[in-house]
Amino acid sequence: MDGGMAPPPPEPVSYLCGDCGADNSLKPGDVIQCRECGYRILYKKRTRRIVQYEAR
Ligand SMILES: [Zn+2]
Repeated sequence: MDGGMAPPPPEPVSYLCGDCGADNSLKPGDVIQCRECGYRILYKKRTRRIVQYEAR
């Protein structure tokens, strides 16, 4: 097989800065760092999937 198939481009993931709350779209392999303030703790945004745990 010699392919004409390119690998799918990595999907950017949205992160929220833990400090200023700015939206950061990072691709896999990118440095995890806020582009607004340089803070290094980013939270992965919730995806559309809703995860709920039912408390009984
Ligand atoms: Zn920030």
